[in-house]
Amino acid sequence: MTTLSPPAVELTGVNKWYGDYHALRDVSLTVAKGERIVICGPSGSGKSTLIRCVNRLEAHEQGRIVVGGVELNSDLKNIDAARREVGMVFQGFNLFPHLTILQNCTLALTWVKKLPLAEAQDIARGYLERVRIPEQADKFPGQLSGGQQQRVAIARALCMAPQIMLFDEPTSALDAEMVKEVLDIMLSLADEGMTMLCVTHEMGFARQAADRVVFMDAGQIVEIGAPSAFFGAPQHERTRQFLAQILH
Ligand code: ADP
Ligand code: MG
Repeated sequence: MTTLSPPAVELTGVNKWYGDYHALRDVSLTVAKGERIVICGPSGSGKSTLIRCVNRLEAHEQGRIVVGGVELNSDLKNIDAARREVGMVFQGFNLFPHLTILQNCTLALTWVKKLPLAEAQDIARGYLERVRIPEQADKFPGQLSGGQQQRVAIARALCMAPQIMLFDEPTSALDAEMVKEVLDIMLSLADEGMTMLCVTHEMGFARQAADRVVFMDAGQIVEIGAPSAFFGAPQHERTRQFLAQILH
């Protein structure tokens, strides 16, 4: 008998508050395995909050979030299990400045997965190759360009063999000439079938890689659709206004 595999991520009626501030309002979203979702929307609309809830960097107060079949609740075993499924890349790279590139990549492999160092280094070198900077392994983050640092951050996340990759504006801290080198890596991950939730305003990437584009405003999902419909015929006035601003 075959069983239907669960969605990669399922949010149902999720609400989250920061104090009195209602940051996520009744958010529901099901992400299939292998699906690529791009999330866009104005600053403060809850995009970061949404994806941070998916690996429990933030806790939601109402609704259900299920990651790889495991519900995120106060059970620490569930949180650990869900986090093993998920890799995250932040706008600000978040590399450890006092560790080399290779050490940044091996840290979780040796401390969390308890792999022997030599094995961890082999895996890390493989992913540094994958993001096309194997020659930077022994440098420190401060010696690399922003684009290179972000590629290291992607390699570091991939080392843990996640089923899902979360990106929170991975290119918005980068100078224009470095945006493409990071987007190219993300496009190749998408081609390989990685499940991805990407907060980004790179609409070229969205058109090329996304299965669906989500527009958020004021903590709500306002509109969600395939790129052709989303860009070609947005249904909501707020979506049209937003697209007019960023596509000018
Ligand atoms: P976006 O990523 O779309 O810019 P965020 O998810 O970061 O939006 O933030 C949504 C709203 O929640 C904003 O108004 C922001 O100021 C507020 N917020 C975010 N993080 C916190 C926090 N840790 N404490 C209080 N308010 C927060
Ligand atoms: Mg944000």
